[in-house]
Amino acid sequence: MKISEVHTHLLDYKLETAFESAATRFTRRQHVLVEIICDDGTTGWGECLGPAQPNAAIVKAYAPYLIGRNPLETEVLWQDLYNLLRDRGQRGLTMTALSGIDVALWDIKGHHFGVPVSVLLGGRVRDTVKAYATGSFRRDGVDRISDNAEECAAHVAAGFHAVKIKIGFGVEEDLAVIKAVREAIGTHTRLMIDANHGYSIQEAITLGSRAAEFDIDWFEEPVIPEQLDAYRRVRAGQPIPVAGGETCHGRFAFREPLETRCIDIAQPDLCGTGGLEMRRVVDMAALHGVRVVPHVWGTAVQIAASLQFVSALLPDPPRRDPIEPIFEFDRTHNPFRQAIITHPIEHENGVIAIPKKPGLGIEINRDALAEFAMGEPE
Ligand SMILES: [Mg+2]
Repeated sequence: MKISEVHTHLLDYKLETAFESAATRFTRRQHVLVEIICDDGTTGWGECLGPAQPNAAIVKAYAPYLIGRNPLETEVLWQDLYNLLRDRGQRGLTMTALSGIDVALWDIKGHHFGVPVSVLLGGRVRDTVKAYATGSFRRDGVDRISDNAEECAAHVAAGFHAVKIKIGFGVEEDLAVIKAVREAIGTHTRLMIDANHGYSIQEAITLGSRAAEFDIDWFEEPVIPEQLDAYRRVRAGQPIPVAGGETCHGRFAFREPLETRCIDIAQPDLCGTGGLEMRRVVDMAALHGVRVVPHVWGTAVQIAASLQFVSALLPDPPRRDPIEPIFEFDRTHNPFRQAIITHPIEHENGVIAIPKKPGLGIEINRDALAEFAMGEPE
């Protein structure tokens, strides 16, 4: 079996209501899928985290080095592509593009051997995973405090055991949002906060110190990811566990944050950190006693790939009633998140069944790819 074609599919949807994190304004949903086709017809799908067109350009740059190669040799191909751009590409789009390719190759490998990727990874530890609802961005044209509180109450009513809200817009307003959300979801629902690196060190320490009374499970990306010493200071200066890592790409990027105790919870993204390179990140986190909760943001391909990975995550620590992983489930508006596969992945009462079919366990709906295909720039 040889790789014969590498394609990218750019997806685009203009949002009716724009929304914002502390770092990004979303007026459209845009994602890029990678499709790799082999000479025997076997096809694999992957996805790249981050901006669609730049990722697609780098996938195209990698493509000539894949044509004619054996898709089952995932480690060899990964090393070759990484080495190709290593001197100028240890982190960033070179890695997110490589992630999409690697996920597609593992999908091919699963189809070839007739097993889901979770089995290739060593076996399914679980067939279901509890989801947590990600949402509560700042939406245009509404009162953020009541909007976030109503949204989170709806997530709880839908069965979610935990919700994550966006902060990083200013300490006082953020505290008002956190208080309103806690009141809306009651005392039993878990609550996490994500600043998308919008705070200074002192703001993060003040927010964390005052928000702790609202029983927060983690404080995500309090400060910019390049400032590892700032992470250590925030972690030492306030009581909420600190989470981060969605912008760390590969084992080398995770080494220092883990070794120097910047984070309590590591959040590698399968479609950003180098694809199944994430196994190495998880092993490193376990060595340092750091919990892993993968970051998930994208289409059904990213969701399906991340579910396969989570299925095979070993309990840490091993014990009779283990701490189960939880799964990030984006609840913001994205019509093609479910539409691009023939059997949409949904939660039921806050729990997701992990597909059992070969590869990523999904089938792509090509009509939906055509419907949401990115057109010429406006
Ligand atoms: Mg985040």
